[in-house]
Amino acid sequence: MPKKLAVIGLDCLTPQFLYGGGLDGMPNFKRLIEGSLWGNLVSIVPPITVPAWTSMMTSQDPGMLGIYGFRNRKSYAYEELYTVNASNVKAKTVWNYLSRNRLRSILLGVPQTYPPMPLNGVLVADFLTPGKESTFTYPPGLKEEIDRVADGEYIIDVKDFRTDDKKSLLEQIYVMTERRFKVFRHLLAREDWDFAMMVEMGPDRIHHAFWRFCDPSHRLYVKGNEYEDVIRRYYARLDLEIGRVLEALPSDASVIVVSDHGAKAMRGGICINEFFIREGLLAVKEYPKRPVSLTPAMIDWRKTAAWGEGGYYARVFLNVAGRESEGTVPRAEYERVRADVKRRLEGLADENGTNIGTRVFYPEEIYRRCENIPPDLIVYLGDLDWRSAGSVGHGAIHIFENDTGPDDANHAQEGIFIWHNRGGAGRVTSSPAGDKISIYDVAPSILDFFSIEVPPDMIGRVV
Ligand SMILES: [Zn+2]
Repeated sequence: MPKKLAVIGLDCLTPQFLYGGGLDGMPNFKRLIEGSLWGNLVSIVPPITVPAWTSMMTSQDPGMLGIYGFRNRKSYAYEELYTVNASNVKAKTVWNYLSRNRLRSILLGVPQTYPPMPLNGVLVADFLTPGKESTFTYPPGLKEEIDRVADGEYIIDVKDFRTDDKKSLLEQIYVMTERRFKVFRHLLAREDWDFAMMVEMGPDRIHHAFWRFCDPSHRLYVKGNEYEDVIRRYYARLDLEIGRVLEALPSDASVIVVSDHGAKAMRGGICINEFFIREGLLAVKEYPKRPVSLTPAMIDWRKTAAWGEGGYYARVFLNVAGRESEGTVPRAEYERVRADVKRRLEGLADENGTNIGTRVFYPEEIYRRCENIPPDLIVYLGDLDWRSAGSVGHGAIHIFENDTGPDDANHAQEGIFIWHNRGGAGRVTSSPAGDKISIYDVAPSILDFFSIEVPPDMIGRVV
């Protein structure tokens, strides 16, 4: 009897809201966890959707992939970053290996699968699809079918999760989730599949938009507010949808439920470039009167040693002589300057002067190798309690309103992993992190499940 494995990916699903609440109101999660291999999943550095899912499905780190975030440096020229997609993934994914072994896959909404590449199976691309008019399915004709199945409109992603219209956003998230699961069950029923994987973006959107209402440790939390139970109730809804998938699966199919990272309360933003201006490391030609995005044209490069990008973490670049066209940091001074910038970042304090515990990584120390152009420093501001704001003109280093729209949560290093292998495996944890599973262990474990030899360039191990 051929084996089947279904992966239900829940972007950003976080341990505190899942196991933290004792799995109340989540009978299907409870059922899955019993007799399974489960625990926290340690994500990549940095724990960001792109390239986290790709790291999970290739068992390669961001350096090996040459993908350091959604947006990456194309060259050492002073230019805007480019946004990556599936065409930037050179490493082989789980489904590439499965296709080669004549095993058939269903992929639905897995991040970084747009534009769709041919495979042995069917594919509906991810939330980075530019719009419904693009070709986002393989085969292309699948597009009409999924719209039909999804009550007229399959929703790739909610329109704008950083909005003040919380009520309509919440409705959109529910509809999106319901329709995605419906399409997943439809594909499970109509395809002859071996491996099926879906990723739902709803948990990520709901955390970013509603965290302040649900977490008493958030600065803006008000007890008894109307959205107090939104995250918990949404988790219960996911539980219901998972229950429906379990019913639709053959009784001997194995199931993985996994997230790419967790979430935590966001205290605020650190304006990384404001900080560099104050430290004398960055000069702008004219300081803006109100907050604006920092563009290369605004920078006085001859007086600049470092600049940074916004996001859930900060990427810092040094302006190196002979590398950047108007570089100021002599090559021979690179390591000294980099260590100095690192030390200054580690000294960052909150608005009351208390050190926030910023962690700074050197790419070559955390990755096996560094393809393409890595940042010079990868920075967890306050260990991800703070996000990075790239804009300037605030007249301050700390901001409490996000410069790209309301957002209450940051990503956290640990997500969740549950492998319900029908037949039972017991609670197992085998990765070097101790009681945890590494994101890199997922792909080799899946290949091993299908009795495919794990290729040597996969850095995780079979759990
Ligand atoms: Zn994510």
